[in-house]
Amino acid sequence: MHTYIISDLHLTPERPQVITAFFDFLANQAPSAERLYVLGDLFEFWIGDDAGSMLGADPVLNAMKAISEVTECAFIAGNRDFLVRETFTQRTGFKIIEDETVIDLYGTKTLLLHGDSLCTDDIVHQQFRAQMMTNTQFCDDFLQLSIADRIEQAKQARLQSNEHKSEISMGIMDVTEAAVLDAFAKHSVTQMIHGHTHRQNTHHYQVNGGDAVRYVLGDWHSSNSIMRIDQSGIEITNQAI
Ligand code: MN
Repeated sequence: MHTYIISDLHLTPERPQVITAFFDFLANQAPSAERLYVLGDLFEFWIGDDAGSMLGADPVLNAMKAISEVTECAFIAGNRDFLVRETFTQRTGFKIIEDETVIDLYGTKTLLLHGDSLCTDDIVHQQFRAQMMTNTQFCDDFLQLSIADRIEQAKQARLQSNEHKSEISMGIMDVTEAAVLDAFAKHSVTQMIHGHTHRQNTHHYQVNGGDAVRYVLGDWHSSNSIMRIDQSGIEITNQAI
């Protein structure tokens, strides 16, 4: 038995080749797995479950529904798609789980998270997180707007985000060591898996005198990043898109 974990596909009709790669994965690889986790930013942006059809998401949602009928599927919302709600779960069969969820991964307690909560040097993003991602009232108010108004606001947010990214250093956009060590301690784990930074890598730490490891998944822009886990270990593969 094995499990797949993927993250940061940033699906958008502007990049149909990534959608095709996701369909290929769901059709050819995912059905053999017992579990599939998506660690956020599956969509380039998600402005409410009621707007998915208008934005062309139906084929993706249908494919997700199909895989959820053979594989247990779970989703952690990223900073691009934190507005997924119960309707998304009903539509796709993907259970929404909390950011920072600890699972048993073939005998190893493992922390799963999107990863942006670890980027504590990025003050602007942390303000966005506090205001939008974790403020229920703010989200509820936004979801009450017309779809057209939400699309407009999302475009503005994307522009601001791109501006922000071009202004700050690469280091600021990565995780901080202190936040990583805090997360290991807070959840009493020695293994964590996340995305968000798009910097696929395996990082080793010493925690309480023992070994700890942080796996970072890559995005799906020019190649996919697919983690496969079974009893014998973890591997990440990449294929050109
Ligand atoms: Mn992200």
